[in-house]
Amino acid sequence: MSLVKILHGGLDIILKPIYPPFCLLCDENTIKFPSLVCSDCINNIPSFEPPLCSICGLPLEGNEFCLHCEKQTEIFSRISSYGPYNSSLGELIRLFKFNSRTFLLNVLGECIYKSFKRDLEGMEHDAIIPVPLHLFRYLSRGFNQSALLSKYLSERSGIPVAENWLLRIKNTRQQSLLNAEERKHNLKNAFKIKKKRTDLKKVILVDDVYTTGSTARACSEELYKEEVEEITILTVARTYRDTSA
Ligand SMILES: [Zn+2]
Ligand SMILES: [Zn+2]
Repeated sequence: MSLVKILHGGLDIILKPIYPPFCLLCDENTIKFPSLVCSDCINNIPSFEPPLCSICGLPLEGNEFCLHCEKQTEIFSRISSYGPYNSSLGELIRLFKFNSRTFLLNVLGECIYKSFKRDLEGMEHDAIIPVPLHLFRYLSRGFNQSALLSKYLSERSGIPVAENWLLRIKNTRQQSLLNAEERKHNLKNAFKIKKKRTDLKKVILVDDVYTTGSTARACSEELYKEEVEEITILTVARTYRDTSA
């Protein structure tokens, strides 16, 4: 038996009491260390299938842009997300973020990489920028999910991460608890660039989820104050547009 196998078996025994033997999503299929989700569930994570709007990234019927993007302009050039939040993908993100299941990084990192490959590969990008967490939130959670996803994407794509360049200087209330108007206000002056850099013109801003876009917009406003010229938003998941408003 190889050393790797012995170590692997040993870890399995040590981790068994705290490590669920069943898939976190379906609770039916067993899993093997170090995965937390069974291969059936991974294969069934839904993704947006082209044709997609080349601005907002949502599925389309014909045309290059959706009706919404034809009428409204955004401050970033486009959004790319792997799939819908309202699905098993959203469940995985919540487990990843709030239960510190950093083992899920491989699954979600692969989703964000696939989204990059589907929509953005071949375009020019100078850096990946993670949406920052405020220091207090970082200390209580122990990690920044966007920074972990950025690092994963960087390893797969070869694009460097501009780490700790964009900072969150205001400890804002949790966006998911607020409505669209409150979200905008909540993020006023929340972000700041650490120091001037003139080499970053085209950047990818990475986050776990895109909902109303207020976080992406607030970050982008700060980035445009510097010499950034083009911003692409890349997330694992996004919600569909609220058409009732
Ligand atoms: Zn499963
Ligand atoms: Zn669109």
